[in-house]
Amino acid sequence: MRKNIVAGNWKMNKNFQEGLDLVNELKEKVVNPNCEVIVCTPFIHLACAADELEGSVIAVGAEDCSTHESGAYTGEVSAAMIKSTGAKYCIIGHSERRTYFKESHEMLKEKVLMALKNDLRPIFCVGEVKEQREQGIQNSVVEAQIKESLFNLTAEEFAKVVVAYEPVWAIGTGLTATPDQAEEIHAHIRSLIAAKYGKEMAENTTILYGGSCKPSNAKELFAKPDIDGGLIGGAALKADDFCGIINAF
Ligand code: PEP
Repeated sequence: MRKNIVAGNWKMNKNFQEGLDLVNELKEKVVNPNCEVIVCTPFIHLACAADELEGSVIAVGAEDCSTHESGAYTGEVSAAMIKSTGAKYCIIGHSERRTYFKESHEMLKEKVLMALKNDLRPIFCVGEVKEQREQGIQNSVVEAQIKESLFNLTAEEFAKVVVAYEPVWAIGTGLTATPDQAEEIHAHIRSLIAAKYGKEMAENTTILYGGSCKPSNAKELFAKPDIDGGLIGGAALKADDFCGIINAF
């Protein structure tokens, strides 16, 4: 059976003390969740967050990793370095990285392999921009993102991947995909996985929704059969909002 997950993506927010405060507030407030809970933080918080949350129900993840193993790549952070902090997950292919940092299918494929090699579970993001939805090509956009960066994986490797469908037009805009719009793509993603890796793998893969998810709409989204939780941006920055989404399960 696949896991339900609520994962926060702090993006480039919270200084060191603010991050520590949020982690401690979450540790207090997230008790017996009915889903797995992950906080994905900027690199500066990882070691401290993982230390504070050790033994709690909350896991820690990074927001990106380098395509490189180690060496002279000033400013980069490798998957091995992330793993050494105690983090267990790594977001890869967020639309902000695809757009602002020109991350290609090929680069993302390398990042996924780096994460897996270092025993980090990738949270792999896919999603169409507004114009692509207007043209009705969202299914083929998402299909290409998945095929080009994930379908080189062995079944054993793919089993460790969490997929996050995040329509770019819904990220940070207050616009949310309707539960039916999201469900349609989630079901399509699951069918692609079934065709490549078989029905059992498809049934066991966690597919998250992301894009202006909040306490007031989470329940309706998570009620859909192929939506297994959320990747949460803005609402992950306040403990009460994040807990409200977790409690939708
Ligand atoms: C995100 O950045 O992954 C995200 C879903 O952001 P928001 O919830 O703010 O739309």
